[in-house]
Amino acid sequence: MKLKTLIYIFTVTLVFFFGIFIFSSLATARDAFSRNQLNLQKVNQLYELTQTFQASLLSHRLKKFSLISDYITRDRISNAEENLRRSMQSLISAPEEEDNDDPMTEKARSLFDKTAMVVYQLIRNDNLEISAAGRDIHSQLNINSASYINELNNLYFMYAYDTTFSDTHSYLFIESIRVNNRMDLTLTELVDQIVDLKRNASDRKHTYLKAIELIGVLDSLRARLVFIISTEPSYSSVDITRVRRLIDMLSKEHMLKFAAFLTDSLDEPTESELDNYYAYSLQLRQLSSEFIEDSFAQEKQNLKQKIYASQAQLYGMISLSWLLALFIIMPVLIFASKITAWLTLTNKNIIKLSRGDLSIQPDATMVTGELLAISNAINQLRLDQIEKRQLEADKQTLIDELLNSSFIDPLTNIYNRRKFFNECSQIPLQRYPLVFCLIDIDNFKQLNDRYGHDVGDQALIAFSHTLTTVLGEDAVYCRYGGEEFAIVAPSASSQEALQRIDHLRTQTELLRIGTSRGGEIGFTISCGIANIISYATINLAIKQADEALYFSKKSGKNRVSFYQNDGFVFLQTR
Ligand code: GH3
Ligand code: MG
Ligand code: MG
Repeated sequence: MKLKTLIYIFTVTLVFFFGIFIFSSLATARDAFSRNQLNLQKVNQLYELTQTFQASLLSHRLKKFSLISDYITRDRISNAEENLRRSMQSLISAPEEEDNDDPMTEKARSLFDKTAMVVYQLIRNDNLEISAAGRDIHSQLNINSASYINELNNLYFMYAYDTTFSDTHSYLFIESIRVNNRMDLTLTELVDQIVDLKRNASDRKHTYLKAIELIGVLDSLRARLVFIISTEPSYSSVDITRVRRLIDMLSKEHMLKFAAFLTDSLDEPTESELDNYYAYSLQLRQLSSEFIEDSFAQEKQNLKQKIYASQAQLYGMISLSWLLALFIIMPVLIFASKITAWLTLTNKNIIKLSRGDLSIQPDATMVTGELLAISNAINQLRLDQIEKRQLEADKQTLIDELLNSSFIDPLTNIYNRRKFFNECSQIPLQRYPLVFCLIDIDNFKQLNDRYGHDVGDQALIAFSHTLTTVLGEDAVYCRYGGEEFAIVAPSASSQEALQRIDHLRTQTELLRIGTSRGGEIGFTISCGIANIISYATINLAIKQADEALYFSKKSGKNRVSFYQNDGFVFLQTR
């Protein structure tokens, strides 16, 4: 397996597991966040409930105690009642959760409503007791208030226990609440018993025993408070000195004093003794309520910190998942844009190639094997096309060369006889009459023999060159045979034709050819001219020109003769 494939598999696996990790962490953080939020809401509601619970018991105690002592003023009672009504109001008007289907909220709401109802009944019962005159109705009301308080306590506990907290600090918090609740309740019952001791002489023994039992309960609460502050160091934010004072006030000494006070109460206790006891219970109550305030604050703070932590984790995980999404999407986008660019370029290249335009730019940037193969194939096609074109060009050159060599004489580089006749056949009829001229170099055999074949060749080349320079564009000429040449040219008259060819003859006379011996030689030509009236009669013209040429030779060479029906005309140059 290639290293690239291994890296690819590794990256995909990594991204996959990272995605699972983020997903599960996100779910956990979300759960923790909503759970802690719900817990905070529960704690807030429990706080409201605790306030109501404490205020209702306080109001009850004040009213009850006012029956036997002037220590409690009317103002204090109405203040306490006002306080109670206020906390109850805030309890039943606590803002509802957005999600009304939440069974916990629904349950809490009905529980709070019930609590409010019981509190109202307790207030009504206590108020009736204060205003009632007869003895019988008093005992009846007393029983009722005990049952209301009991019901209130049941409702309170129902909510407190239903609040499910699992952490250590939450456990301590619940324990604090329980201790506080028990203390409040015990103190209230004690007040009830003391008031009964004072007011109901008939059942004193039973009341006394109950009060002693309640002192036992208070004593047991001390141990629980010691346990709370010694267990958890995180409870340090709770004012420990306050708790210690509470523990002191619940000391064995105090409890014994209390019991002694109760024993005294079997006889007639004095008003000041009662008031002292009440002041003690108030102080105890005050400290306990302050302790519970601290516990609430501590619990709320803990929960808020947890909410912040889970919120931070939630946001962190959301950011991470965005990063992961980017990590996945970005390469795909880049790859897609690369593919689009490649497709556009490839499409353009194919169209260009199909039109024969080879100026394409093959794209080799694609890393994907298949696409790279297509790019390479297109490039190969382009190279093949270039090679094919080159071959075709070479072939054409070769054909041109072959064609040239078929109608150009290789030594003199002028038309050969075949091309000459071909060209003549192309002359339009209206350009006729023309003249046909045959030229033969004089004594050429002798020149060859004397100076060598090479010098003879040089003479042929030099003469051909003179032909080209002397004759104009309008003449057609060729090497007719060995040292013979032929011309077809226009001429206004026989005279003009004679003069033109004679000019060629005199120019030839002037030519000089270098020999191997270091000297220079010249040569002459003999020419025969005839009229030609059309290409169809060329053979006649050749025959007549040949006759004229023969005449020039016979007449001494180096001269021009013109064939005419009435005899040969020649130009005497000597
Ligand atoms: P006249 O004046 O009567 O024409 O005499 P002449 O010697 O020119 O006559 P002849 O036709 O017998 O000689 C032609 C000679 O031209 C014969 C041949 O060797 C020579 N010749 C033909 N072709 C070539 C060629 O390509 N190169 C050379 N050097 N000589 C050639
Ligand atoms: Mg000849
Ligand atoms: Mg000759």
